[in-house]
Amino acid sequence: MSETDNRGARVAALTHHIGGHAVDGTSDRYGDIFNPALGSISARVPLASVAEVDTAVAAAKAAFPAWSETAPIKRARVLFKFKELLDRHHDELAELITREHGKVFSDAKGEVMRGIEIVEFACGIPNLLKTDFTDQIGGGIDNWNLRQPLGVVAGITPFNFPMMVPCWMFPVAIACGNTFVLKPSERDPSVSNRLAELLTEAGLPDGVFNVVHGDKVAVDALLAHPDVGALSFVGSTPIAEYIYTEGTKRGKRVQALGGAKNHLVVMPDADLDQAVDALIGAAYGSAGERCMAISVAVAVGHIADELIERLTPRVQALKILNGMEADAEMGPLVTAAHRSKVVGYIDAGVDAGAKLVVDGRGFALNGHEEGFFLGGTLFDDVRTDMTIYREEIFGPVLCVVRVPDFASAVELINANEFANGVACFTSDGGVARAFARQIQIGMVGINVPIPVPMAWHSFGGWKRSLFGDHHAYGEEGVRFYTRYKSVMQRWPDSIGKGAEFVMPVAK
Ligand code: NAD
Repeated sequence: MSETDNRGARVAALTHHIGGHAVDGTSDRYGDIFNPALGSISARVPLASVAEVDTAVAAAKAAFPAWSETAPIKRARVLFKFKELLDRHHDELAELITREHGKVFSDAKGEVMRGIEIVEFACGIPNLLKTDFTDQIGGGIDNWNLRQPLGVVAGITPFNFPMMVPCWMFPVAIACGNTFVLKPSERDPSVSNRLAELLTEAGLPDGVFNVVHGDKVAVDALLAHPDVGALSFVGSTPIAEYIYTEGTKRGKRVQALGGAKNHLVVMPDADLDQAVDALIGAAYGSAGERCMAISVAVAVGHIADELIERLTPRVQALKILNGMEADAEMGPLVTAAHRSKVVGYIDAGVDAGAKLVVDGRGFALNGHEEGFFLGGTLFDDVRTDMTIYREEIFGPVLCVVRVPDFASAVELINANEFANGVACFTSDGGVARAFARQIQIGMVGINVPIPVPMAWHSFGGWKRSLFGDHHAYGEEGVRFYTRYKSVMQRWPDSIGKGAEFVMPVAK
């Protein structure tokens, strides 16, 4: 199926991936997919109806009995093969990401690698599903545990990591024996279809992994569906809260990861070269469209003036290019609408009286005038009552807040409603230790600006950055995607000694 783009040329429409096959959308609703560097429509994405979501859930439900009975070692073998295919298609996947998201190719390759690492973790599922066994809890009785899959589970993912975030979910979910329905972001959905094709090529049985594209209609259909046992969500805080409230109300298990406002504290004793490098990469990498991006630098004591002095030329010199250019450091924002939103925040910062040190609003790239580019922006003297401090901007905007001492830095960060990631740059081990212990944030970096945990640790914020009890992937993922069962057993020669009316105790 094809439609026309914003210049009248014909563009293809994506398909869903249901029951192991590409399936054309049947609703008449479509969304536009842009190449953000060019500002042109590259394809259209079908927006599923409730009936199409039902079909995907039915395919996953039909696949569940056989897949959940498949030995974990055999499920792992499919994932080993999938990992091999991901390695082989690493560049192709990264290019798909850059063309729809806009992030630079080298960064997209890093995203693909972080996704592959979760698949590698999930390959260890036979060991991860091992549980405890107690021999002889009483006369002739043993007690052990099982971790059993939940059934059909769904994932709803954001635009900013179109491969990595789905990989936080489905490799662990299917390794545990569940079947999966992914509803990826409608802004950059193509990589999800490619993952589905590669899973099929790896030998995954039809229906174990399904992709249904769509918007709120599809999400609400998954939330309401009685056969969906659990939902993993990653996206903005208002939607995360909505998914958690609506999902748990219907008895589903839900983990919903939300937005962020991540601070990096620069102590007066920090190595300033390292801190400036870290801030430039963490604030402007991926145009600030990372849930772990640093959006606030907390300058402690006398360091502030020198920090601003060193940051300014670096922000002005950022190489902002089409992400496919080899030396690009930062690409465009994902859509024109998102660019306008970020510009609105910069306007609001100026109106509120923050000091605009570098203004990215006038940036234009020769030959890419229609692209969604924005220059790096730096604010000084930001106060905590300003919108640019309180809200998540999700763009290449760094706010510097000045505080007198360490205690004020900790107090300021702990008062923020978000609590995803945080970093402290210091050369004092005692300060570092106190920071890691006192800070009320899910993921902490000491001289590490973006402390995204490795695959075998787990990812998650606190407070309004995560709704639910489980962090994503790692052992937390295995716990989320399995139900714990205790089995107590004795054999016939010990049965038949009459009814027991007292609470059983070890004899
Ligand atoms: P978003 O909340 O707009 O969308 C996320 C998903 O929810 C998409 O699949 C979208 O189709 C769906 N959705 C959007 N509006 C909906 C509605 N009204 N009802 C039901 N479903 C809806 O987020 P985004 O703009 O795609 O991604 C950026 C956000 O994600 C940022 O806030 C970022 O911090 C957050 N994020 C958080 C993490 C984390 O781990 N905490 C990771 C990545 C991104």
